[in-house]
Amino acid sequence: MAEEKLQRLEVVTPEKKTYSQDIRFVVLPGTEGELGILPEHAPLVTSLKTGLVRVQHEGKTLKIAVSGGFAEVRNSRVTVLANAAEREDQIDVQRAQAAKERAEQRLASGGSDIDVVRAEAALKRALNRLKAAGQA
Ligand code: ATP
Repeated sequence: MAEEKLQRLEVVTPEKKTYSQDIRFVVLPGTEGELGILPEHAPLVTSLKTGLVRVQHEGKTLKIAVSGGFAEVRNSRVTVLANAAEREDQIDVQRAQAAKERAEQRLASGGSDIDVVRAEAALKRALNRLKAAGQA
């Protein structure tokens, strides 16, 4: 059987490298929609929204929560540069749950001192982390 073509996926943040592996297929949460990338994909650069990077590797799907950033695809290499990124096994569910509740309370309070855009972004990050961890 012909050997399966692979591509390199690197997920990095300003703080650390979250993932680095040769993989078959990855879905990226592009701001214009989800992008499925196979090896030898045409070069592209896209911005990312808060969402899940879904990696197919060795017959399993791994979820990585990313909180916005950019991705570059070139020469069978996918580089994700994210503001924050956590693999599903790295997520602190209690912390994400607490962040979700804080953001919901801020939004529900409706006070004039609330930064709604910021609270909504925090809520999105928390919900995304819970989804990655299989808790939402
Ligand atoms: P919190 O209010 O709990 O700090 P946040 O959305 O404001 O959440 P970020 O600013 O996006 O947090 O991330 C700060 C750092 O903490 C990043 O390194 C991120 O990967 C990490 N992080 C945030 N929430 C979690 C979580 N629930 N589990 C694991 N790591 C997390």
